[in-house]
Amino acid sequence: MTLPPGKLFLVAAILFVAALAQAATPSSPQTSGDRLVASGPAGQPPAKLVSAKFSRQKLTSTRGHRTTAAGRKNQRTGTAATADDWTLGNDGKVIYLTFDDGPQEEWTPKVLSVLARHHAKATFFVLGREAAAHPELVEIERSLGHHVGNHTWDHPMLTHLTPQRVKEEIFSGVKSKCFRPPYRDTNALVEAVATANHQRQVLWDVDTNDWKKPGAAKIERAILRGAYPGAIILMHDGGGNRAETVAALERSLTQLTARGYTFRALPC
Ligand SMILES: [Zn+2]
Repeated sequence: MTLPPGKLFLVAAILFVAALAQAATPSSPQTSGDRLVASGPAGQPPAKLVSAKFSRQKLTSTRGHRTTAAGRKNQRTGTAATADDWTLGNDGKVIYLTFDDGPQEEWTPKVLSVLARHHAKATFFVLGREAAAHPELVEIERSLGHHVGNHTWDHPMLTHLTPQRVKEEIFSGVKSKCFRPPYRDTNALVEAVATANHQRQVLWDVDTNDWKKPGAAKIERAILRGAYPGAIILMHDGGGNRAETVAALERSLTQLTARGYTFRALPC
């Protein structure tokens, strides 16, 4: 990786913060599991490198685990995961934080700093065009133990495109085992193209609506009310000013940690 000179300080600063965070606590099995996945070739870690916590059986599609109040609420409001959702196993109080539309040079590092401070791992569904513009940020995300998913090249509504354009948008995104359609706009064709690209479609359980900039308090409330073991939470590190997201993330991670939650990257 060749870094423009201006990026070097940024990279060094983030890695320094992360090193401090790592030094502050002994490493956990979770960390080693993430590292195992992250150490595979970009986008195509051999199956054997995937943590046992995410074994095949535990990725079986089902809605059966949506038994918490938050799950029922999500189903009522139409934001429940589709049949393609994952059941990630009964691993205790684990939450899967996801950030879409980055990387973005101002807000992605701030999100990474908050995550490092709280010893949290997350999944970044990046746009191909932004990843191409800021490859160093994608590299940093991976080096810190986070996982990276494909969010298409240019963030279109895929169901409005021709099959050829759908393929171009998905295949030109980043290498990953996961794909997330922009706007949750998907159909059988989109999913089939993702599958042909060896990517599993990943939606979410809890929509914080942070992109509407409703205020940090509302985003924080959405995270805290939506949280339940195994929940996939949607936020954004790109697409605009994410100050509210960063503030809400800081406060909610403090509270969720106090409730006994840990934060892992999806097996992407
Ligand atoms: Zn998006």
